[in-house]
Amino acid sequence: MVLFEKKSFPFHKVCGEYISNEVLPFLESLGIDIAELQPARINQFLLTSPTGNALSAPLDLGGFGISRYTLDNYLANKAKKAGVKIYEQTAVQHLQFNQDKFLLQLSNGQHYETDLVIGSYGKRTNLDRQLNRRFFTKSSPYVGVKYHIKYNFPKDLIALHNFKDGYAGISAIEEDKYCFCYLTTRANLKAAGSIKNMETQILAQNPYLKAIFKEAQFLYLQPEVINEISFAPKSCVENHVLLCGDAAGLITPLCGNGMAMAMHSGKILTDHLIKFVAGEYSRSQLELAYTKSWEQSFATRLWVGRMVQSMFGRPMLTELLVSTFKHLPAGVRLLMQQTHGRPF
Ligand SMILES: Cc1cc2nc3c(=O)[nH]c(=O)nc-3n(C[C@H](O)[C@H](O)[C@H](O)COP(=O)(O)OP(=O)(O)OC[C@H]3O[C@@H](n4cnc5c(N)ncnc54)[C@H](O)[C@@H]3O)c2cc1C
Repeated sequence: MVLFEKKSFPFHKVCGEYISNEVLPFLESLGIDIAELQPARINQFLLTSPTGNALSAPLDLGGFGISRYTLDNYLANKAKKAGVKIYEQTAVQHLQFNQDKFLLQLSNGQHYETDLVIGSYGKRTNLDRQLNRRFFTKSSPYVGVKYHIKYNFPKDLIALHNFKDGYAGISAIEEDKYCFCYLTTRANLKAAGSIKNMETQILAQNPYLKAIFKEAQFLYLQPEVINEISFAPKSCVENHVLLCGDAAGLITPLCGNGMAMAMHSGKILTDHLIKFVAGEYSRSQLELAYTKSWEQSFATRLWVGRMVQSMFGRPMLTELLVSTFKHLPAGVRLLMQQTHGRPF
């Protein structure tokens, strides 16, 4: 098996770095003991409105916090040891399917021929344009910003702090550090003029965020920033490329479930690929079976995530929701269940 990665491990990525415990049985089945990385164990949730109205709830399933810098590098090394050939600094620039074979054109000028391609290239790349994917032509209004910070904050808690047109998450990762990451709109950023202005003028209206900006030690000179984050529905097979993770559909970050879904889609696909390689499926049967399993596992979760996200960001509505759900712990639990899967 061969993996092409356009960057070099380790590297930072915009992500809240909270992973649902639903991935643990899968990782264990691969011989991966996440405890080796000494992640933070997280089982409490705090939600605040832009004025600082707060509700808290236990997390039934819980999760763990580990930086992508550490986790992705660790998983890449595990894959190498298991025999995967990883080409770093190698982007797939173009792919073509012809006579039951793929021909990949790589950024190092070389070509690679193969029977199967799994597209696990994240939320948006040049390959989406080539595959004529509909979401690619539509501009998305979202911007994501991430820092690592040192801050006096409980290690078992993940907090989601709302502000006008966005929300920020904070939770512990390894080495006494915290991931502080937020999603907002380009319009918010444009109106403020700069990230710094937006943080002081808009985010800091929430007293919990104000305290973070005032008291935390920020560990990067500059934050990691991404844009063009589309939550639009996508398909999980395009021109015979089998898509996994964000390439098949990105759940809104407030659900904290994107990495678990990415791993789960990989597991589901692998189960079908084993049958294809054993000759039990033709290519079209493989594509149909994967599409069906993907839809069954994730379509509802993505839809609920979009609905929940649409309720946040609007200050009055968020205020109302926090005040209402404060007295409805069963409702909070139900929403969390709808945006998460079960251990797999
Ligand atoms: C603001 C924000 C906060 C989030 N917070 C959380 C959270 O707390 N918990 C959670 O579970 N999820 C969170 N997510 C979602 C999570 O980051 C993604 O769902 C997850 O990273 C998806 O994994 P993936 O492997 O599909 O894609 P990625 O992690 O994006 O990996 C894709 C890889 O492909 C490489 N690549 C891209 N194009 C090419 C190419 N042409 N050739 C070769 N390599 C290529 C990239 O360099 C990258 O390393 C968040 C997302 C956002 C935007």
